Amino acid sequence: MIVILSSSATERNRADIVDNLEARGYGVHVSVGVEKTIIGIIGIGPEEKAEITDQFEAFPFVDRCVPVSAPYKLVGKAFRPEGTIITVRGVVIGGQKAVMMAGPCTVETEEQLMESAHAVKAAGAHILRGGAYKPSTSPYSFHGHGVEALKMLASARKETGLPVITEVMDVRDVEVVCEYADILQIGTRNAQNYNLLREVGKVQTPVLLKRGMSSKIEEWLQAAEYIASGGNHNIMLCERGIRTFETYTRNTFDINAIPALKELSHLPVIADTSHGTGKASLVAAVTLGAFAAGADGAIIEVHPHPEKALKDGAQSLTPAAFNDMMQKLHQLLPVVGRSF
Ligand code: PEP
Ligand code: MN
Repeated sequence: MIVILSSSATERNRADIVDNLEARGYGVHVSVGVEKTIIGIIGIGPEEKAEITDQFEAFPFVDRCVPVSAPYKLVGKAFRPEGTIITVRGVVIGGQKAVMMAGPCTVETEEQLMESAHAVKAAGAHILRGGAYKPSTSPYSFHGHGVEALKMLASARKETGLPVITEVMDVRDVEVVCEYADILQIGTRNAQNYNLLREVGKVQTPVLLKRGMSSKIEEWLQAAEYIASGGNHNIMLCERGIRTFETYTRNTFDINAIPALKELSHLPVIADTSHGTGKASLVAAVTLGAFAAGADGAIIEVHPHPEKALKDGAQSLTPAAFNDMMQKLHQLLPVVGRSF
């Protein structure tokens, strides 16, 4: 259940409610919004819900109590109906402006990363992506340059001013990745790695949580709830395609998920149409579709020489193709009430 305080509630009122709930043995999460403060109550039974609703709604500083039946509360729409806005080094995610994250799948060399960073920035990207720790289906393939790549990302940020996003795969690496990265990416293969989700819930660095390749939307939101329940509310949900019977594309980009998440959750939604299609020729069209469906941002793989990429070359755009897609987005976004 959540308790929505009225706009006249003071800090003292809020503390009284929190003390009251904690004294009854409940977990309490407070979200202080610009307009409203919302208090989430964890671990409350149905009868207690009715009792607390009666008691609390009698207080002049309580607007109302709302029962939440979904298995995710903190990331559910009711907890923050106005939506979550995450600001990363001045880039606002979840507001009116659409956000573009782009860069290579993998940080390969200093030159490759710098060339990519300058190219995506010139085309209008706001955030630089690049994998330092790479999940691979085969234990024998390339697994990323680790800390060396994190350092390269930090110098690309210094040179271009673009904040950086990179994947963290292991609880033991969360600290070092937080040292260098502005956004932590949780990959599809770790989307239900609950220890890792709890670990990134303990920091305040924003997290982009990819959908598990066979996760249902409810399971995905529950994964996000793990992060939020640890205290990190800076979460973005990233649709990256799911496994279906179709093999022409690498994955099936589930465009339904975008408006569905907007109904169910207050978290910003990001579209990864590179992994969602697996084919460079399809990326632009599906990205346009994702923004038309309400995505707050996209994350796109761009490589200066896709044919030489160590990973995911087939789905990586050239800088020219990326620039072309950005031009199309400039035309589309105003139609759906947004802009870059
Ligand atoms: C990636 O972003 O390069 C990646 C490995 O993504 P996913 O976890 O969605 O496969
Ligand atoms: Mn990739």
